[in-house]
Amino acid sequence: MEKEIMEDVKKYQKAEKLKKKRDEVEPLPWYYDGLENLCNRIHPGKQLLQVSDIEFLSRDTKLFRFISAKPNKPLAPFRAGQYIGLTVDINGVRTSRPFSLANSPNQLSYYELGVRIKEGGFVSPFLIENLKVGDILEASEPLGNLFYNPMFHGKDLVFIAGGSGITPFISMLRDISEKKLPLNIWLIFGCLTEKDILFRKELDDIQKRRSNIKTRYILSEPDSDWKGECGFITRDKILNEIGTIANKYFYVVGNRAMYEFVREELNTLGIPQHRIYYEAFGVPDDITKVIGWPQEINSSHKIQITVEYRRNTFKEKIEFEALCTEPILNSLERSIKDEIEIANACRSGECALCRTRMISGKVFVPPEVTIREVDNNFGFIHPCISYPLTDVHLDLTLT
Ligand SMILES: Cc1cc2nc3c(=O)[nH]c(=O)nc-3n(C[C@H](O)[C@H](O)[C@H](O)COP(=O)(O)OP(=O)(O)OC[C@H]3O[C@@H](n4cnc5c(N)ncnc54)[C@H](O)[C@@H]3O)c2cc1C
Repeated sequence: MEKEIMEDVKKYQKAEKLKKKRDEVEPLPWYYDGLENLCNRIHPGKQLLQVSDIEFLSRDTKLFRFISAKPNKPLAPFRAGQYIGLTVDINGVRTSRPFSLANSPNQLSYYELGVRIKEGGFVSPFLIENLKVGDILEASEPLGNLFYNPMFHGKDLVFIAGGSGITPFISMLRDISEKKLPLNIWLIFGCLTEKDILFRKELDDIQKRRSNIKTRYILSEPDSDWKGECGFITRDKILNEIGTIANKYFYVVGNRAMYEFVREELNTLGIPQHRIYYEAFGVPDDITKVIGWPQEINSSHKIQITVEYRRNTFKEKIEFEALCTEPILNSLERSIKDEIEIANACRSGECALCRTRMISGKVFVPPEVTIREVDNNFGFIHPCISYPLTDVHLDLTLT
């Protein structure tokens, strides 16, 4: 009995000591709230944007200007080259697509997006044809790794853009020009015709004002009176512009076809992979033509998808059919409507927001997409860029 009492006394003394220690700790500093506010400002997660202006940039591309829809919530800052995921509701389907921020990061009164209509697309025709001044849309915070990093990228940068792929570069060029950064820039911009050269007036103007920025337009379908470069962006044309590849860092942005072409050209120049940053706009037009696609699979093959998810505390299950030629996320958004929402932004396997556990099944991922090894090892997929090859069972109950 005495022994038990002594143990209780010891426990009490220990608890007292701990309490004293806790009381001695200084209270949280006054600036804690400030830091939290700053953090929320930089990483708001989601933002509400209101369309303030719309103008045509070319026959198939519109510039949308957005202000914050909440006056007390300023737009999140970003690094020139980053993008936001824009969410839309189209006939009951809630989906999103990434768009690069085209405005200078040095002002945050508005964001600018240059959206090109994609034939047969889902979101871009909707935006071009339906979006009007005053509309409010949800967007992600700025994301993405395509930005100038002085630690690793040196002073000589080669920007290679195809079509609407100019959008992150116009933001970077505005930034570099406004801050008079001591960098040497070669912009090689491939377009179909002269009418498709987006932001031409401004690009010419920047080139005139800044001797360290050189711009070359290359047209693949020029009119007969075009006196500039013609054809595709080949290795010879790149070398012609930049002289040597030594110490240069390359950024390539455009649709998948352009990206694949330029990648081959840069490979033949022997540029180390770590000195090239690629950003491919959108999923492949035809996944069955991508290297590694299992040719034995019939492209009209329908797949059974099962998704387990939580509604309140209950586990629910939903099943639907999907095409093997469509990313799982697209079929999921169409089939489940607003029952479940999987966070996503890049729709190209980069941001990892949509990572989901696959209990069983087999998916195809384009070879250039790098999924973190740990995700692969523990059975996680990125449904935004995963194409189902066999019946697939997903588990969303952990998210
Ligand atoms: C980082 C990044 C930045 C980008 N920046 C820009 C930019 O600045 N400017 C720009 O123009 N583009 C940009 N893009 C490309 C852009 O995100 C879109 O890929 C492009 O606009 C095409 O989208 P889309 O929906 O029109 O076409 P798709 O994504 O090809 O839409 C067709 C697909 O939508 C799905 N779909 C069709 N009908 C339905 C339905 N009823 N319900 C549900 N799903 C359906 C199907 O899967 C179909 O295959 C960027 C892409 C990335 C990755």
